[in-house]
Amino acid sequence: MIYLDNASTTKMFNECADVHKTFSCNEYFNPSAMSAKSVEVSRHLAEAEKYILSRLGAKEGNIIFTGCATESNNLAIRGSLRTGDYEYVFSAGEHPSVENVAKRLQLEGYKVHFVPLDKEYGYVDLEKLKEVLSEKTRLISIMHVSNETGAINDLAAISKLKMQICPNAILHVDGVQGFMKIPINLRSTAIDLYSFSGHKIHGPKGIAGLYVKNKAALKPLFEGGGQQFGLRSGTENVSGIMQLKKAVELIDENKNLEKVKSLKLLFHTSFLKDALDAGLKINDFEGSPYITNLVFTGVKGETMLHALETEGVIVGLGSACSSKKAGNRVLENIGMRRECIISSVRISFNAYMSEDEVKTAAEIISKVYLDIKKRVS
Ligand code: PLP
Repeated sequence: MIYLDNASTTKMFNECADVHKTFSCNEYFNPSAMSAKSVEVSRHLAEAEKYILSRLGAKEGNIIFTGCATESNNLAIRGSLRTGDYEYVFSAGEHPSVENVAKRLQLEGYKVHFVPLDKEYGYVDLEKLKEVLSEKTRLISIMHVSNETGAINDLAAISKLKMQICPNAILHVDGVQGFMKIPINLRSTAIDLYSFSGHKIHGPKGIAGLYVKNKAALKPLFEGGGQQFGLRSGTENVSGIMQLKKAVELIDENKNLEKVKSLKLLFHTSFLKDALDAGLKINDFEGSPYITNLVFTGVKGETMLHALETEGVIVGLGSACSSKKAGNRVLENIGMRRECIISSVRISFNAYMSEDEVKTAAEIISKVYLDIKKRVS
């Protein structure tokens, strides 16, 4: 099998499974209990937090560990709500775990803005962002890397706008598709909250985090025993946190970035000429090398996805969370025509694939497309 749906989830590192065993069967003590064993476990958690903060380049702040980035995003947004004459700003390209919270806020009577995306490259339109920011802005929530197109938002420019127009606003970044992939240094930005998820970086499912610069500015989603500074009550997922730390330790994001850039180039240059002539188009937004989109003119993306699976190639159809629904609001927002949208698939790489796999995948994709094209025409 050649797996090209890594934006949806990734294969876990074997080393994480070893860590799971250690912290579930041996060091299984509750970090909040009083025994020396428990204190030792809580020390491990503190080290994991410190390590992840350092890898994010954060000089202050904390990591709140959550169950998934969906929860991190909800905590970031709902935890920032305040009563008063405030406004909340989102990009039009957000993942449903942000977009649907924003829509709910609108129904609840909050003043919400959705900032359109650049039609050519798919990142948030900075001029339009500037127009909606004001002293009333309480929260800006914009993702780092689009899970649909791979478009990369300019976090330095967004930080600058925030500092110029609304320095007291909270800047939240959904970093799920950028974490440990596109190098980031939180210290050089004005980011207050940053979400990430374990299963997108070869860690386990069920563990994620939210970087919080100033915990006093955030409110919890639910009350309980007061763990994690009262911002996320409930016994910590010790094994998950330690596995997440292990995954981060194993990743060299700079080295991986170079490798994935060359894999993507190889992929793009390995399609058969006949397939390109028949209408296979590369729809690249020049963003993250981890994600690319293909358009199969005249054939539905879903048809390609199933046909490819029978040939051992797994691809995706936009966000895993929205792929069961018709259309694609992010691709629509950047002005892609409907017939292109329904004919598109999302390809997402990981840094541990071989060149052979990528080349073979491009050839299989070409052949499957040519075969279906022949049958439908
Ligand atoms: N944000 C983005 C950009 C994503 O791509 C995803 C998952 O696809 C999420 C949030 C949600 O992550 P999780 O599956 O950990 O809830």
